Amino acid sequence: MPSVEYKGFAHPRVEAQIPRLTDAHSAGQYVKMSCCWCKITRMYRPLDILKLVGDVHVLKLHRRFYCEKCGRKDYMAVEFKNVMGSEIAGMRIRELVEIRMVKKPIWRDTKL
Ligand SMILES: [Zn+2]
Repeated sequence: MPSVEYKGFAHPRVEAQIPRLTDAHSAGQYVKMSCCWCKITRMYRPLDILKLVGDVHVLKLHRRFYCEKCGRKDYMAVEFKNVMGSEIAGMRIRELVEIRMVKKPIWRDTKL
Protein backbone atom coordinates (compact mmCIF):
# COMPACT_ATOMS: atom_id res chain seq x y z
CA MET A 1 0.00 0.00 0.00
CA PRO A 2 1.39 3.42 -0.88
CA SER A 3 2.44 5.72 1.87
CA VAL A 4 0.41 8.62 3.22
CA GLU A 5 2.29 10.84 0.76
CA TYR A 6 0.21 9.46 -2.09
CA LYS A 7 0.31 11.90 -5.02
CA GLY A 8 -2.58 10.42 -6.99
CA PHE A 9 -0.77 7.68 -8.86
CA ALA A 10 1.28 4.61 -8.12
CA HIS A 11 2.33 1.48 -9.96
CA PRO A 12 -0.84 -0.27 -11.29
CA ARG A 13 -0.01 -3.45 -9.36
CA VAL A 14 0.25 -1.44 -6.14
CA GLU A 15 -2.95 0.50 -6.88
CA ALA A 16 -4.84 -2.78 -7.44
CA GLN A 17 -4.10 -3.75 -3.83
CA ILE A 18 -5.61 -0.60 -2.31
CA PRO A 19 -9.16 -1.25 -1.02
CA ARG A 20 -11.94 0.21 -3.14
CA LEU A 21 -15.46 1.27 -2.23
CA THR A 22 -16.91 -2.06 -3.39
CA ASP A 23 -14.37 -3.84 -1.19
CA ALA A 24 -15.49 -1.75 1.78
CA HIS A 25 -19.13 -2.52 1.04
CA SER A 26 -18.54 -6.26 0.78
CA ALA A 27 -16.50 -6.18 4.01
CA GLY A 28 -19.29 -4.33 5.83
CA GLN A 29 -17.17 -1.24 6.37
CA TYR A 30 -18.24 2.38 6.42
CA VAL A 31 -16.53 5.45 4.98
CA LYS A 32 -15.34 7.76 7.73
CA MET A 33 -14.71 11.35 6.63
CA SER A 34 -13.17 13.77 9.07
CA CYS A 35 -12.32 17.43 8.82
CA CYS A 36 -9.15 17.92 10.86
CA TRP A 37 -9.80 21.67 10.92
CA CYS A 38 -13.36 21.58 12.33
CA LYS A 39 -12.91 18.28 14.21
CA ILE A 40 -16.08 16.89 12.61
CA THR A 41 -16.40 13.23 11.72
CA ARG A 42 -19.17 11.75 9.64
CA MET A 43 -19.86 8.18 8.55
CA TYR A 44 -21.19 7.26 5.12
CA ARG A 45 -22.21 4.07 3.39
CA PRO A 46 -19.71 3.06 0.67
CA LEU A 47 -22.44 2.63 -1.96
CA ASP A 48 -23.63 6.23 -1.43
CA ILE A 49 -20.12 7.52 -2.09
CA LEU A 50 -19.81 5.15 -5.04
CA LYS A 51 -22.84 6.77 -6.68
CA LEU A 52 -21.02 10.11 -6.59
CA VAL A 53 -17.45 9.29 -7.59
CA GLY A 54 -17.46 5.73 -8.92
CA ASP A 55 -15.52 2.78 -7.59
CA VAL A 56 -12.28 4.46 -6.56
CA HIS A 57 -9.85 3.37 -3.88
CA VAL A 58 -9.60 5.01 -0.51
CA LEU A 59 -6.56 7.18 -1.27
CA LYS A 60 -8.34 8.83 -4.19
CA LEU A 61 -11.09 9.94 -1.82
CA HIS A 62 -8.69 12.13 0.16
CA ARG A 63 -9.20 15.81 -0.59
CA ARG A 64 -12.02 14.99 -3.00
CA PHE A 65 -14.83 16.10 -0.71
CA TYR A 66 -15.39 19.48 0.88
CA CYS A 67 -16.16 19.97 4.55
CA GLU A 68 -19.76 21.10 4.88
CA LYS A 69 -18.88 23.49 7.71
CA CYS A 70 -15.66 25.25 6.64
CA GLY A 71 -15.74 24.47 2.91
CA ARG A 72 -12.12 23.30 2.81
CA LYS A 73 -11.02 20.05 1.32
CA ASP A 74 -7.33 20.09 2.21
CA TYR A 75 -8.07 19.06 5.78
CA MET A 76 -10.38 16.19 4.88
CA ALA A 77 -9.24 12.70 5.86
CA VAL A 78 -11.01 9.62 4.58
CA GLU A 79 -10.71 6.05 5.75
CA PHE A 80 -12.68 2.83 5.68
CA LYS A 81 -13.87 1.93 9.14
CA ASN A 82 -14.86 -1.38 10.63
CA VAL A 83 -17.77 -0.96 13.00
CA MET A 84 -18.20 -3.45 15.80
CA GLY A 85 -21.60 -4.77 16.76
CA SER A 86 -21.92 -2.70 19.91
CA GLU A 87 -21.04 0.52 18.02
CA ILE A 88 -23.72 0.07 15.36
CA ALA A 89 -26.58 0.75 17.77
CA GLY A 90 -27.03 4.51 17.82
CA MET A 91 -24.33 5.23 15.22
CA ARG A 92 -25.14 8.24 13.05
CA ILE A 93 -24.92 7.68 9.32
CA ARG A 94 -25.09 10.47 6.76
CA GLU A 95 -27.08 8.95 3.96
CA LEU A 96 -27.54 10.11 0.40
CA VAL A 97 -31.10 11.30 -0.20
CA GLU A 98 -30.87 12.39 -3.83
CA ILE A 99 -28.49 13.75 -6.42
CA ARG A 100 -29.68 16.95 -8.07
CA MET A 101 -28.50 18.02 -11.49
CA VAL A 102 -28.18 21.80 -11.61
CA LYS A 103 -28.75 23.73 -14.84
CA LYS A 104 -26.21 26.52 -15.09
CA PRO A 105 -26.52 28.95 -18.01
CA ILE A 106 -23.29 29.85 -19.81
CA TRP A 107 -23.49 33.06 -21.87
CA ARG A 108 -21.27 34.66 -24.48
CA ASP A 109 -21.45 37.80 -26.58
CA THR A 110 -21.52 37.45 -30.35
CA LYS A 111 -21.66 39.98 -33.19
CA LEU A 112 -24.53 39.91 -35.66
ZN1 LIG B 1 -14.10 21.74 8.21
